[in-house]
Amino acid sequence: MPHPPPYNLEEAKMLARELKGKGIRDKAVLAAIARIPREAFVDEALSDMAYLDRPLPIEAGQTISQPYTVARQTELLRLDPGDKVLEIGTGSGYQAAVLCEMGVEVYSVERYQELYQTAQKRLNDLGYYPHLFHGDGYEGLPEHAPFDKILITAAPEMIPPKLTEQLGVGGRMVLPLGGRERQQMTLLERVSETRYNTTEHGDYIFVPMQKGRE
Ligand code: SAH
Repeated sequence: MPHPPPYNLEEAKMLARELKGKGIRDKAVLAAIARIPREAFVDEALSDMAYLDRPLPIEAGQTISQPYTVARQTELLRLDPGDKVLEIGTGSGYQAAVLCEMGVEVYSVERYQELYQTAQKRLNDLGYYPHLFHGDGYEGLPEHAPFDKILITAAPEMIPPKLTEQLGVGGRMVLPLGGRERQQMTLLERVSETRYNTTEHGDYIFVPMQKGRE
């Protein structure tokens, strides 16, 4: 259980300033981070570390990503207000909260039932209302496609083909791509019905994207 409210956002503001110093330029991303109590997304025993720029453990052996990584992935998406965004790997729900703060319509899929339920309650308690699903992110959400932006927060070894199909033309997908050791942050842009461009944006380490639901 996380530390209960009220939350003091001074530390969230300091975290946003730290990320600016580390090169995050998108002002809307920084503003979102400054408004979110990250301590609400981790166990109370980790409260003291909630605003450090580092990943932390959550339930089911998963992690809440490092704030810099959350900011960088979000910045690479180049969100426009009103975008329909699909996140794969709800985890703690922190990244979904960042997306909600940025005024986009959020769909997020998590393969662990326990994480899905916890994130649902936590986000609603904080006043965020993304559309959350318990499912396998490799399948995406065909009934809600196409998406303007897709963000994968676990690492697949190959770009999931069903997700590229569910990306609208002109859309952007950001994902850490590669094997278990480390991954390349990859931006895939859908240029036309049949053409995609990819560019690489540095090394990261994520938990693996795994098949099926738990
Ligand atoms: N965005 C999260 C980061 C969580 S870590 C946050 O802000 O806290 C990555 C998450 O992806 C884990 O919760 C893991 O269970 C989930 N995951 C891994 N493979 C998945 C898949 N195929 N479909 C959906 N979620 C998946």
